[in-house]
Amino acid sequence: MFQASADRLDLTVFVAGAGQAGARVAQGLRAAGHRGAIVVVGEEIHAPYERPPLSKELLLGERAVEDLAVVPAVEWAALGVDTRLGLRVAGFDRDAGRARLSDGTTVDFDVAVIATGGTPRRLSVPGGDDPRLRVLRGLDDALALAADLRALAGTGRLAVVGAGVIGLEVASTARRLGVDVAVLEAGPRVMARVVSPDVSDWLADVHRAAGVALHLDTRLEAVEPIGSGFRLHHRGPSGAATLDADLVLVAIGIDPAVTLAEGCGLPVGDGMIVDRFCRSPADPRFHAAGDVACVEDPATGHRLRLETWRNAENQARAVAEIILGRAEPFAETPWMWTSQHGHDLQVVGRPDPEAVVIRRGDPADGGFARLWWRDGRLVGGVLVDQGRDRRFLEQLVTEARPVDPAAPADPSRPLRSLRAG
Ligand SMILES: Cc1cc2nc3c(=O)[nH]c(=O)nc-3n(C[C@H](O)[C@H](O)[C@H](O)COP(=O)(O)OP(=O)(O)OC[C@H]3O[C@@H](n4cnc5c(N)ncnc54)[C@H](O)[C@@H]3O)c2cc1C
Repeated sequence: MFQASADRLDLTVFVAGAGQAGARVAQGLRAAGHRGAIVVVGEEIHAPYERPPLSKELLLGERAVEDLAVVPAVEWAALGVDTRLGLRVAGFDRDAGRARLSDGTTVDFDVAVIATGGTPRRLSVPGGDDPRLRVLRGLDDALALAADLRALAGTGRLAVVGAGVIGLEVASTARRLGVDVAVLEAGPRVMARVVSPDVSDWLADVHRAAGVALHLDTRLEAVEPIGSGFRLHHRGPSGAATLDADLVLVAIGIDPAVTLAEGCGLPVGDGMIVDRFCRSPADPRFHAAGDVACVEDPATGHRLRLETWRNAENQARAVAEIILGRAEPFAETPWMWTSQHGHDLQVVGRPDPEAVVIRRGDPADGGFARLWWRDGRLVGGVLVDQGRDRRFLEQLVTEARPVDPAAPADPSRPLRSLRAG
């Protein structure tokens, strides 16, 4: 069990961002015995909440806002965290160890954590700045989208720009609510950043079978307002065309929220750059956690930025311990999940173009997997409706055990048995 250094227990810790990672840093500090002041500042008015249900259960009406708290209200109150919501952190004076807030107040600190997440990208085409175009990042976005989708059920049309995880989850949810859905994707396949090509093809078919009009290799060129809706001008394999929609969701990814780090001279790239201990190389008092952190992976030495729930959980807990003197670096085997049209996809690791794809089972079997094998080892894979195997796949990947590729290709051999061998 982690033992905090006694000389670090009374430090004042300042956390910018009251999201999942920010909340877990505060909770992790207290769990490890920290007694000093913790100040968490968040620009949203909501107490820290979980985002994955925003595109799934909350949108469907299967989960209530009150169930989304990262830390239940009573427990949070007991942590004694100075929580300031509805306020932006405007900047840092690093020499003074001071944060400036949007209401003009300041907070002095010993250690700071930047946990500011990411900001949805906007369209850069003519008409793409129409404020009625939707994005989905926060609770307010989700509540507004949920109300609009309900109003569209039966007769309305939703256009989703971007066939990444969030766009496809909303497409799936909207179909379940009875809304007509079209998805425009500039690339040749869906969820290309996350899964291998044959899983993309399978998933595209699942969406089509559920009634989603999927336009791949299709670039949006302009957004024209027509009445209360929109006409989307796009160009695809069969040339220029238009698509009319009552509602448009722009789901083309996020940019890590690095303004604060950049503003006080900390290095940024694809996120706030931090070392294996999630500390800025320019100033070890500053840490990063969650979607904003671009961290050095101790296994490969490469920098990695993950936009996943578990990364926010684990990295934030690691940062809390590192602040209190932990000597082991942060390491994470990437894992994320998504649910679409009743299917559960679990992705371990990251797609590796050099890896051989091992086919385990077939979609017709009800569940299947595509595993990535390289240099004699499994480096990740996608499990479709086989979530029970996730733990075993992660263990095989994390432990980097040599695996004969014929073994996982046989679906009758449980993945857990490969670990035992
Ligand atoms: C709709 C949706 C569905 C998702 N589904 C999944 C899923 O199925 N599986 C999965 O693994 N992951 C999923 N994710 C990703 C996961 O939720 C994120 O990785 C996680 O929320 C990241 O946590 P974070 O604390 O880094 O960022 P956030 O939770 O975004 O928190 C950052 C907070 O910082 C605040 N902030 C930013 N700048 C400032 C400032 N200057 N001052 C004060 N506050 C500031 C922001 O307003 C925000 O509240 C989903 C995300 C979304 C949006």
